[in-house]
Amino acid sequence: MTVNGAVWRYQLTAQERALLGRTDHDALGARPDVLVVGGGVLGVSTAAACAEAGLGRVLLIETGRLGTGATGGATGLLIPEPHQWSDPEPFVDLERASLKRWRDLEESLPGGVGLVELDWLGLAPHDSGFAAHQPRAVEWLNPGQVEELIPGLARPMEGALIRRQARVNPLRAVARLAAGLPAVATGVAATSVTIRGDQIVAVGTSAGVISPGAVVFATGRPPVLDGLPLDIPSDRVKGHLLVTEPTDVRLPGIVAPLATQIENGQLLAGGTFDLGDETPAVQPEVIDSIVDGLAATLPALSGVGVSHQWCCFRPRHPDRRPVIDKVPGLANAWLTSGHFRTGILNAPVTAAVLARWIRADEPPAEAGTWSATRFRGR
Ligand SMILES: Cc1cc2nc3c(=O)[nH]c(=O)nc-3n(C[C@H](O)[C@H](O)[C@H](O)COP(=O)(O)OP(=O)(O)OC[C@H]3O[C@@H](n4cnc5c(N)ncnc54)[C@H](O)[C@@H]3O)c2cc1C
Repeated sequence: MTVNGAVWRYQLTAQERALLGRTDHDALGARPDVLVVGGGVLGVSTAAACAEAGLGRVLLIETGRLGTGATGGATGLLIPEPHQWSDPEPFVDLERASLKRWRDLEESLPGGVGLVELDWLGLAPHDSGFAAHQPRAVEWLNPGQVEELIPGLARPMEGALIRRQARVNPLRAVARLAAGLPAVATGVAATSVTIRGDQIVAVGTSAGVISPGAVVFATGRPPVLDGLPLDIPSDRVKGHLLVTEPTDVRLPGIVAPLATQIENGQLLAGGTFDLGDETPAVQPEVIDSIVDGLAATLPALSGVGVSHQWCCFRPRHPDRRPVIDKVPGLANAWLTSGHFRTGILNAPVTAAVLARWIRADEPPAEAGTWSATRFRGR
């Protein structure tokens, strides 16, 4: 039987599952120094970084449960190095810094964040092999070497091997981070703000009014709230994923574009870009095409069953880069949005940038590129 829903929730312990619905009722009464709106990986990481930076009482609110949005459906890959083929250098540097922070969190949090170290192997998509652009950290494999790592490929392929990338179960990481937060209220939606001068003085929520010292919006796409004048273009891009039934096939980590080896002999595949599909439902034909792709590349996977299938939406700005900035015109409100396909990876470094900015009230150097106003006049 196929479960419609991300595999991640089913891998959690009962305690981790409970943490995703954490609600500290008393916390809603007190005035927080920092209010974080949005309980995806960006909001939870930011709340954790603010608490660690000693920014006072930090309260996180989330409409649903933690990880309800894009976070809970993501692949969870932390792979900066392969992005050298697709992303500009400053962005890859941000990603590298963030993977380092994930590793630090794995060391420093009680029980870690569930980070799994693994290699990435890119299969050459064409007979002519990879394009001329040759990033660092790559070991080039000839078809024989690739065949040794993945016996039985449908045709000989060259490969690019990058060692020591990583992945997380995004919900486990969020739960582990949430365990250390000072105050969390799930089931609470921000609905409006009251602005006086250049300050947000009150945030209206479904559980009453909160008067925070500072506010960080981490709502996936920019928030749409009564009284908040924000005009940052964004959209969202749907993606489908599936996990197979356990198979005897063993992959050497993440094999792009085939699949990623996960627990219990299962494979995680997909990550489609379903442009224009705004429906929240899984499309069976997309799942079928992912399964067909598995068998076409590795015939041993013909007939493999699907144990979990799901879809989710990547929040995106027009240039596919995130916003990490103050809310334009406001002195005590920050925003991070549009993390598109690398929000899990980039959450810890984004959180650190925001926490430093709130503490020093000056933008850290890394923030310059990710301004909220860069779309003006487009
Ligand atoms: C198919 C797919 C595969 C992906 N794979 C990867 C990957 O391998 N690696 C990677 O790094 N990234 C990946 N991503 C991207 C990643 O999932 C996102 O970039 C990231 O999860 C965005 O996190 P977020 O916290 O900004 O948004 P979200 O996870 O959407 O969280 C925002 C939260 O804010 C809450 N919220 C919204 N409005 C309000 C309000 N008014 N009041 C209170 N709460 C509110 C929402 O309920 C939601 O929980 C993938 C995405 C998809 C769709």
